[in-house]
Amino acid sequence: EEPSAAMAVPQAGQDGLVLLKRIGVVDPSSLDDYRAHGGYTALRHAFGLGPAGVIREVTDSGLVGRGGAAFPTGRKWQATASQPDHPHYLVCNADESEPGTFKDRVLMEGDPYSLVEAMTIAAYAIGAHRGFVYLRGEYPRAARRLQHAVDQARARGFLGDDVLGQGFAFDIEIRRGAGAYICGEETALFNSIEGYRGEPRSKPPFPVEKGLFGKPTVENNVETLVNVLPILTMGAPAYAAIGTGRSTGPKLFCVSGSVARPGVYELPFGATLGELLELAGVRENLRAVLLGGAAGGFVRPDELGIPLTFEGTREAGTTLGSGVVMAFDDTVPLPQLLLRIAQFFRDESCGQCVPCRVGTVRQEEALHRIVAGTGADAAGDVVLLREVGRAMRDASICGLGQTAWNAVESAIDRLGAYE
Ligand code: NAD
Ligand code: SF4
Repeated sequence: EEPSAAMAVPQAGQDGLVLLKRIGVVDPSSLDDYRAHGGYTALRHAFGLGPAGVIREVTDSGLVGRGGAAFPTGRKWQATASQPDHPHYLVCNADESEPGTFKDRVLMEGDPYSLVEAMTIAAYAIGAHRGFVYLRGEYPRAARRLQHAVDQARARGFLGDDVLGQGFAFDIEIRRGAGAYICGEETALFNSIEGYRGEPRSKPPFPVEKGLFGKPTVENNVETLVNVLPILTMGAPAYAAIGTGRSTGPKLFCVSGSVARPGVYELPFGATLGELLELAGVRENLRAVLLGGAAGGFVRPDELGIPLTFEGTREAGTTLGSGVVMAFDDTVPLPQLLLRIAQFFRDESCGQCVPCRVGTVRQEEALHRIVAGTGADAAGDVVLLREVGRAMRDASICGLGQTAWNAVESAIDRLGAYE
């Protein structure tokens, strides 16, 4: 058997974990073991509450999306549940591709039945009978384990025409991506499932109204869905008491780079960046921390007091995103790092709109000139970067183009890159 997902979870087996509690503890291939560790109690609660009751609990819990954008989950579910147009669909976005993000992978490899159970609850709440998992193509182990869990759940009556004899039909199909970052954008993902090019659609209309196959669709990230289990088992008030008033619950953080113990950490929202880095064993010669991945922003070593909440990072002029925390010590050459980020966006732009298609190329060219020292004037290239960055942010169709300049801008403004 392959190495356990617990290898990427330094806290595995510790008391008090909510989202990671079964990782490295439960046998991911066994439905019986999942049930022996509390599995499927949340679904029974859900059937007791009824669809509207489940949506009320999720709304009262304050749960917001964990893919990065923090949209209120209860509002999303309610918006789809109330659409007269049918069928409704549920899509789990498991195309985890933000550089430095690997939390969903750990959940799917280490505790796959939790996602199957959480999707069943979400589908029941919004009146969907078909669910899709759009899984990152580079996650073959997650694909195998999740497919096995879906097959076992179906064979045992936890999925299918009559889930647990409750008269509710639901099944899950797994679709695998093929390595395109853009297919994690929620509407490009719909196109990909439908067999079209993975290009984002303009929003509105939002997916809650017109999503997969043009029908009302809830699309949630893996971690978002898995949070529904503790919400139902502990109740919304107890869940909402974890974290802060505006960022409730536990959060997974993906820590990598210049630390002694990289991996996925679970902390309640509100812990500081410094506390998290302390757990991961941060090095003394820390130069910068990238929050939120390539689409996020850098902060300085004197800013480790930033609280890890959506509101706290926003107030500090940065972002929490999907929970990426990449540490860089002073041996990492910053200009080369920025060039690598720019290359990533140039590679991954789908090319549908001009600001992003051309802007990501211009950005990379300017950074390349600065690194190679071949430009006439580095200060002039920084001015150009700002102009291109503004155009991408203001005029791109989707989040990729809108955020492609974030990391470079923060490196210039907060770290004094190129000075
Ligand atoms: P967004 O703010 O446009 O939307 C967030 C969610 O809320 C979407 O599902 C959207 O449909 C919904 N929504 C927004 N307004 C709505 C409304 N008025 N009515 C109904 N639904 C509404 O953000 P986005 O472009 O979907 O995502 C951007 C985030 O994705 C960034 O924070 C980025 O960090 C993150 N991201 C994550 C990964 C990853 O691998 N996890 C990869 C790339 C980007
Ligand atoms: Fe495609 Fe970039 Fe435009 Fe998004 S912003 S639609 S990735 S070209």
